[in-house]
Amino acid sequence: MQCKKCKGKLEVARSCRRVRLRCRKCGTEYRIHEVAGDLDEETEAVLEQYTVLIYD
Ligand SMILES: [Zn+2]
Repeated sequence: MQCKKCKGKLEVARSCRRVRLRCRKCGTEYRIHEVAGDLDEETEAVLEQYTVLIYD
């Protein structure tokens, strides 16, 4: 999915027990709940691997 600021590609970034979506281009990080309504299938599939982690 795309960054809301620069349209760069967002990738799932895991740190400790938290998961973020981070833009490869500008580095902006999004919390999962901030973009929950915009997740595409590709991103959801990746996030499913982290269901044991805490989405804060
Ligand atoms: Zn960006």
